[in-house]
Amino acid sequence: MKSPAPQPSVDRAPVPTATDGRPETISALPPSSAGFRCTICGGSAIDHGTLRDDGVRVLFCAGCGMGVVEQRPADTAHFYTDDYYHRAEDSAHGYADYEFTAEHGLLWTRVLIERLLPTGGAVLDIGCATGFLLRRLGGAYRRAGIEANPAAARVAAAAGIDILGGDVLAPGLATAHAGAYDAIASIATYEHVLDIRAAIAASLEMLAPSGVLILEVPVISESRSNADWYGSSFEHIFYPTERGLRSLFALFPGVHFTGTETAIAGYSSTYIGLATRDPDRFAELQRLLAAMTADDPAPLTEDDARLNLAYTVLHEFRPTPARIIRLPLLLERYFSPNLGKRLMQLWYGDAVQAVDAAAAGVRIAAAEARAATAERWAAAPLTTISIDRLRRRIGR
Ligand SMILES: [Zn+2]
Repeated sequence: MKSPAPQPSVDRAPVPTATDGRPETISALPPSSAGFRCTICGGSAIDHGTLRDDGVRVLFCAGCGMGVVEQRPADTAHFYTDDYYHRAEDSAHGYADYEFTAEHGLLWTRVLIERLLPTGGAVLDIGCATGFLLRRLGGAYRRAGIEANPAAARVAAAAGIDILGGDVLAPGLATAHAGAYDAIASIATYEHVLDIRAAIAASLEMLAPSGVLILEVPVISESRSNADWYGSSFEHIFYPTERGLRSLFALFPGVHFTGTETAIAGYSSTYIGLATRDPDRFAELQRLLAAMTADDPAPLTEDDARLNLAYTVLHEFRPTPARIIRLPLLLERYFSPNLGKRLMQLWYGDAVQAVDAAAAGVRIAAAEARAATAERWAAAPLTTISIDRLRRRIGR
């Protein structure tokens, strides 16, 4: 297991949630908590609650650690209307620039699937949006998607993707496709469903015997700020912790599960999880996860280095000199204008901080915030900046 170093945000005003990982704990639990029943472990004891910025309470189960909104909505379709993937700048839910986010946020998933299934196979993307990941995988793969947003699903279908439906929990859907997929990706989806345990069960049912489930969800971190998860994305229903996810997968006999917290620079953490029933496949997943998260890509094979760079540089936004030197390996195979834009943001951020530091006569303005990661960043301290700060810098 990789244990990410504490990484204070350098781009936003201090918030009470900054570092303790257990912010704004509600000492007097609401009356409705008396009827709490955990979806994962069936427990009725609440460890603590946290107040979301919209006033909704998130309750964390004492038994398994999973977090869930105090009152789950009757249905979720109203969250995923046609503006979800093209939201207004001031909206608190949805994606401002889905294609740009998808390009750098999903590259690691694409590279991982290509490593696991080098000659093709059947791939399902749960929450496929416009089919971005599947389109990038190309026609060598038999591609299917599940998508709640009708407009996005139509775009995916027009690109040749077989849309199975709008909800992984739809009655009969998983049974109709039991054992059908060599890889199932579910990126930023399970936190949206009404029943995460049933959604994982349905996903596992659709896996082939040696199939692999690749997931990413927001995680309530023990070591980093969770402000992004409590301050936006109010359509989320589940607030996973690492313990909650491990408890969840432990409910499925014969399923092996591993994962890692992804410490995205300037943003709250996500958790990447990998699951399979096949012991040999699991050993391969553990090896690939270690390569993907390695601090130094220099000793890695070219294929492993591509996976590492897609994850550490494009997704985590954490370049180092050793990673930058190997970037051509990634870009010679995967370059696109949006990946170039992402790298330009990094470069611009470094340049801005260098100018700031020179002007202030200090090596780096955010030196104090960086002290926790000084060892890791000793060779290249001018590297972390968020998109939000960039936007303020360039005045839009
Ligand atoms: Zn529980």
